[in-house]
Amino acid sequence: KLYNQVQDLKGSIRVYCRVRPFLPGQVNNLSSVDHFEEGTITINTMSKNGKGRKSFNFNKVFGPSATQEEVFSDTQPLVRSVLDGYNVCIFAYGQTGSGKTFTMTGPKDITHFSQGVNYRALSDLFLLAEQRKDTFCYDVSVQMIEIYNEQVRDLLTTLEIRNSSQTGLSVPDANLVHVSSTFDVIDLMNIGQKNRVVGATALNDRSSRSHSCLTVHVQGKDLTSGNVLRGCMHLVDLAGSERVDKSEVTGDRLKEAQHINRSLSALGDVISSLAQKNSHVPYRNSKLTQLLQDSLGGQAKTLMFVHISPEPDAIGETISTLKFAERVA
Ligand code: ADP
Ligand code: MG
Repeated sequence: KLYNQVQDLKGSIRVYCRVRPFLPGQVNNLSSVDHFEEGTITINTMSKNGKGRKSFNFNKVFGPSATQEEVFSDTQPLVRSVLDGYNVCIFAYGQTGSGKTFTMTGPKDITHFSQGVNYRALSDLFLLAEQRKDTFCYDVSVQMIEIYNEQVRDLLTTLEIRNSSQTGLSVPDANLVHVSSTFDVIDLMNIGQKNRVVGATALNDRSSRSHSCLTVHVQGKDLTSGNVLRGCMHLVDLAGSERVDKSEVTGDRLKEAQHINRSLSALGDVISSLAQKNSHVPYRNSKLTQLLQDSLGGQAKTLMFVHISPEPDAIGETISTLKFAERVA
């Protein structure tokens, strides 16, 4: 029955747009979002010559009041396909503050209700594995890495990975930790989060300028035939997509910005050439696309969440985010 669900997902690349609500204290602001429907969002472009509007189409648009549960219910079939041996990539894209971490992980003070895609995906995998235990025996393990300035860091040890040779799935040199419950994963995510913070200083919150990736490897043995299926899922919280003003930043900050720009456009290039079914896919242009090569294209399934902030001040970034997303859709 699951196979049918998977086939129902038309195409292997989907793009969902999510609009963050105004934060407490901002309630009466005018939103840059004019309106949205099922798969279309219309924004006020607020051009110099008065009010303008522009619409963008996606597989789905989640408005500011969409709950974590609603967002996950559209993601669930994709997540479940990992147990059938598919490779899946889920990305969160958007400017800093637009809600990427909220979608993937949740808010700072996380509750059961506010858990993001990561937690829900893992609980769902364990639940489904349990339901199938008479026919399949599943083995689940996870990796957590961060990519900062094109350097890969293992978040489940504090060691730097010098050079990861790309064989098989993901990052062979990064710690692969066996897990048997959602609790195990939550523990690891907390460790990874702490290790991530270690690399940052008070003035330099590096998390918004690095990509973080939680990879879940699943191996399922069919108890009747003895066949083994392998699937993996990458849950990626991307670095903030905002452009920095080159005249205002220098040194490390400029270097970071250039690395981010380059890797996000490399990701955009890969996904759009997959969407257009080009024969050449430029995986080699960034660490991120190199590491995810086996899970982008082919039989693999990709979901990009693009996040936008509702503030009129953010309109420039909102438009460039929507344009990026339109290119990969
Ligand atoms: P990013 O990871 O893109 O920098 P965050 O996920 O940290 O952005 O979101 C910025 C702030 O907005 C956080 O305080 C977060 O809890 C809040 N937030 C983001 N999305 C939502 C949402 N859909 N509903 C409620 N609060 C949200
Ligand atoms: Mg974040």
